[in-house]
Amino acid sequence: MASDSVDAAGKTPGTVVTRFAPSPTGYLHIGGARTALFNWLFARHHGGRTLLRIEDTDRKRSTQDAIDKIIDGLDWLGLDYDAPPLFQSDRAERHAEVAHKLLDAGHAYKCFATTEELEEMRAQQRANKQPLRYDRRWRDRDPAEAPEGAPFVIRLKVPTEGATTIQDEVQGSVTVQNAEIDDYVLLRADGTPTYMLAVVVDDHDMGVTHIIRGDDHLNNAFRQLPIIRAMDVIEGGWPDPIYAHVPLIHGPDGAKMSKRHGAVGVEAYRDEEGILPEALFNYLLRLGWGHGDREEISREEAIELFDLSGVGKGPARFDVKKLQHLNGHYIREADDRRLAGIVGEQLGDSADLELLTKAMPVLKVRAKSVKELVEGAAFLFAKRPLEMTEKAASLLDDEARDRLAGLSKMLHLQNDWTIEALEATTKSYAEAQELGLGKLAQPMRAALTGTTTSPGIFDVLVLLGKEEALARLDAQAAPAGTTGNV
Ligand code: GLU
Repeated sequence: MASDSVDAAGKTPGTVVTRFAPSPTGYLHIGGARTALFNWLFARHHGGRTLLRIEDTDRKRSTQDAIDKIIDGLDWLGLDYDAPPLFQSDRAERHAEVAHKLLDAGHAYKCFATTEELEEMRAQQRANKQPLRYDRRWRDRDPAEAPEGAPFVIRLKVPTEGATTIQDEVQGSVTVQNAEIDDYVLLRADGTPTYMLAVVVDDHDMGVTHIIRGDDHLNNAFRQLPIIRAMDVIEGGWPDPIYAHVPLIHGPDGAKMSKRHGAVGVEAYRDEEGILPEALFNYLLRLGWGHGDREEISREEAIELFDLSGVGKGPARFDVKKLQHLNGHYIREADDRRLAGIVGEQLGDSADLELLTKAMPVLKVRAKSVKELVEGAAFLFAKRPLEMTEKAASLLDDEARDRLAGLSKMLHLQNDWTIEALEATTKSYAEAQELGLGKLAQPMRAALTGTTTSPGIFDVLVLLGKEEALARLDAQAAPAGTTGNV
């Protein structure tokens, strides 16, 4: 499966190919999701291809659970890929092959330095306050000088003269002196590839033209390019990719986004914060990318408008209020039956989807999250005797219970169970009692929902239906004649 996707990937010249390359060590975090989104949008905007590569070479830290969570999170956000995911760990042989090509062509060399030797070297560098860097001791030595059968690693022979410049699509022109780049390890003594080699080989074999990723990888680009350029000399067909290093996401306090700023995993926004995928999609898009002052941008518009020139150079700040605001917008736009399905799943077996769908227009008016919809819908399925919040219970004093009894008597006679008719009856009863409607509506709400916040009280009466509504009112109303007030 994996090798098919490589062969099929992006071989047409001029076609944009992007990739998202997460390391599956936890969950799909917000930063990763945004990187995935930008890659996806860029490819879709250009009619190109976008690919997924699971960078699972760190076998100890990569788990199947983390892989599932990433794939699930991407799927939930609606980010689809043009080939099955490629697993980096399947490709160790190919990575080693490239390392040997570099070795054979003199762009890499065997290093026989032992761990003890390298530790000693670093101790010396530390003592001399020098940067800790491999001192290239085997670069020009004859491998024949190594003891027979001694283990070795393969290191890249990075040019020591000159400088490397990257025209980054976000960062602009960035230059690093080649002497600053170390002759790092490509292949370990046990023959396994390093991450740095694997990334370059996979990007090439997948036909990736544009590398869009977090700017924490900008330094890596300068280490990865020498492999690409050496391979281009050796066999041709290894063009420099176009780089776009996107600033990381910061929390509201300006520090790099972390757990202490709240949830960092996409699944938590779905499961705990009740965010709709289209809201997170829109929010992640706006986080570090802009098009004028547009806030609400649909998926289709995003594909049409996305470009790398709109990516900001400064770190974006995560603002959960903005996300919730967008979520409220998308909840109001969402189809009622779909929302009922999402809410129903959370409410469990007791939820009646027809009733939820009917209630959705009034439930979603103010809701900023699915959680609020679930809380708002709970009264529909509550069982008598209703559980009362403390505040609701405090509204139901003797006087209120008397009024409910009087009102209930009138409502029992009501055949037209519509908002207009119920409102007319309730108003006329309030007037007869010389009460403001509010004085009546709050105890009604308490009796009907067990809480002090709910949709409009006549909506509540209609949604519950005559029988259930009156049963709830009567359960709280003073038994006839006990106070003699009505
Ligand atoms: N696997 C790396 C990460 O999760 C990304 C590597 C890349 O994009 O080149 O940070």
